Amino acid sequence: MAYVICEPCVGVKATKCVEVCPVDAIHPRPDEPGHKEAEQLFIDPNTCISCGACAAVCPANAIYAEEEVPAKWKSYIAKNAEHYK
Ligand code: SF4
Repeated sequence: MAYVICEPCVGVKATKCVEVCPVDAIHPRPDEPGHKEAEQLFIDPNTCISCGACAAVCPANAIYAEEEVPAKWKSYIAKNAEHYK
């Protein structure tokens, strides 16, 4: 199980999540190549320890535990994982 960044992040990329993640699971960070071009941030499901810290600070309410992702945004589960393939 991992947390997933959904549609409200698109065009927002607030990056508060990046600052609080204890395992550096959220990319591209502002200091990484591709950050400016990325339409949203993504959580690496293989690194995320499901602490929930990112969801708590997201001003866009874009982040959900995988099993709590709203039905309309289910495709974002694969979308986050795809970013790391
Ligand atoms: Fe990082 Fe915790 Fe969010 Fe997973 S749930 S991405 S470990 S802050």
